[in-house]
Amino acid sequence: MSPFFLGLDLGGTNVKAGVVNEQGGILAQVSVPTGSSPADLSAERVIGRIIEAGFQAMDKAGVGRRKMVAVGVLSPGQSSLERGIVFRSANLPLWRNVALRQRVSRGLGLRAVLENDANAAAYGEWWAGAGSKTAGPRLNDLFLFTLGTGVGGGLVYEGKVVRGSFGFAAEPGHWIMIPGGEPCGCGQHGCLERYCSAKYTAQRANQRLVRSRTLRQRSTLGAVFEKAGSVTSADIVVHAKSGDVFALEIWDETCRLLALACINVCHMIDPQMIVLAGGMSQAGRFLVDRVNHHFKAHWWKMTRPTARIVLARLGNDAGVIGAAGVAKDAAERGVLPGVGE
Ligand SMILES: [Zn+2]
Repeated sequence: MSPFFLGLDLGGTNVKAGVVNEQGGILAQVSVPTGSSPADLSAERVIGRIIEAGFQAMDKAGVGRRKMVAVGVLSPGQSSLERGIVFRSANLPLWRNVALRQRVSRGLGLRAVLENDANAAAYGEWWAGAGSKTAGPRLNDLFLFTLGTGVGGGLVYEGKVVRGSFGFAAEPGHWIMIPGGEPCGCGQHGCLERYCSAKYTAQRANQRLVRSRTLRQRSTLGAVFEKAGSVTSADIVVHAKSGDVFALEIWDETCRLLALACINVCHMIDPQMIVLAGGMSQAGRFLVDRVNHHFKAHWWKMTRPTARIVLARLGNDAGVIGAAGVAKDAAERGVLPGVGE
């Protein structure tokens, strides 16, 4: 009997549940709204929906609970992955110290793990995404950057998710890239996220557009800025692609720092693959080609570049597959807590 895993992706808008097989393929998945109003987003109600979605996914897949090995749940906010508790969540303001792993586990009658979305995405890409699409034996080591509003990361090393001694491993968003640089919300200065997230890439452009009338007239982003009051990272990509010099300059600054971060990853763990995921990776080759260009240009002269930098492949399924994947990983390592623990 081949084993199955349940992946639960708890987002601000939807709860997704998927039954995933041993190869990382989704047999069936369901998506239900997380809640309709702030009061509807209490831990009690949302957890009820998560459990319901889990049972629906199993029904749809025709896989009974006895064939399920474990469930992986993605944490929606600040949490202790080890203890299974979500302290607070920006999307779920009513949540305080919720024992999410224990409650979902009890409700479904399955052993469960709690994981953050970047770690899960890294495992998912290693298991069933970019890392699984290579010729020859499976990769051992893969690092993943999530490039969205913030910059996150996940590391699979020798086929296992690396969480670190205190759960803070693989946090590239707060690597200090520019000594004495821009202040970051975390309290440090010059963090990668402060330059390379979608939010700060856009903010850098907006600050320069505010300051210079000449720039607003010279750049095609000027018209967007005048009309909308600000530009987004998606605007920057569109205008850079069509050759606007200013948009290209901003985009290139982001890609260059990301490339330097990739070089640092290589000198730390020497992975076979670095995956770029998250909203900004929708820029596709326009992102990965520029990052690769700077990666090669700044790489040391001792050896040729080793790691391949590629785009994520799982897209919207990354959450469900990654969550199921970390449950499988925990089962293989023999570290699954008991039901309700
Ligand atoms: Zn920071």
